[in-house]
Amino acid sequence: LDEAGLESVESADVRAAYPLPSGESHKYTRGVVGVDAGSDRYAGAAELCVRGAQAGPAGMVRFGGPDSVAAEIVARRPEAVAGRGRVQAWVVGSGTADRADSALRAAAADEVPVVVDADALAYWRPGMVRGALLTPHAGELARMLDVERSVVEAAPLAYARQAAERLDATVLLKGSNTLIAERDRPTRVVSTGTPWLATAGAGDVLAGLAGSLLAAGLPARDAGSLAAWLHGAASRRAAEYGRPITAGDVAGAIPAATAAVLSA
Ligand code: AMP
Ligand code: MG
Repeated sequence: LDEAGLESVESADVRAAYPLPSGESHKYTRGVVGVDAGSDRYAGAAELCVRGAQAGPAGMVRFGGPDSVAAEIVARRPEAVAGRGRVQAWVVGSGTADRADSALRAAAADEVPVVVDADALAYWRPGMVRGALLTPHAGELARMLDVERSVVEAAPLAYARQAAERLDATVLLKGSNTLIAERDRPTRVVSTGTPWLATAGAGDVLAGLAGSLLAAGLPARDAGSLAAWLHGAASRRAAEYGRPITAGDVAGAIPAATAAVLSA
């Protein structure tokens, strides 16, 4: 721990905690992650979230968003299964627009851990779900705490901690350094990302990956830490030699980034 009480997430932490399948595993024991993302207006967010989830350790991704989006997802990502059903974790909010409230309530009713992202963050209420992981950027966190964005940006650590207390959840505050705050635990920091990661859809990929790690059985603090670390490492890999990247490039680089850290 440094003087601010921060714990840096390192490659060895990722290696030690990453859930690996065994000879006895089948897809359901590896975990099923449900994704409720996207809307007619933001169908791309749904696909990026599914791609992030497919790049993680869970054995199956179920897409529980609107039928119009589901048809597109299954055509483009045929491993995903459409329709709601039993899952070990939900990812809710990326691109859900005006159906964010009902999507979050439906996920909460399943009483499994939930990653709450983007539009759904505004509808989070303390105690809604145990073991939830909230994934705001500074603007979204500011709105949840009813302060200005610039105030959060000036003191991200203090606001991430305050949010974890007040919102009764694990809070992953995204930025050039990503913070993972939880009540009564040291706050973790992840610094593997590159500024090229500041690109549309990057957060949707992160939310999906975090959901896959939750579904595979990690607690919210570890799921958030490993997702942020691997997402950042994947962005560095994709942006090699300083080239611009898309969020899809980041999703595509997650398996190689995972292999590199697990085999080191
Ligand atoms: P979102 O705003 O939801 O699309 O998420 C943006 C993603 O990009 C998060 O994973 C951030 O941590 C990451 N990110 C944004 N800006 C930077 C930056 N300047 N350097 C590194 N990562 C960043
Ligand atoms: Mg976002």
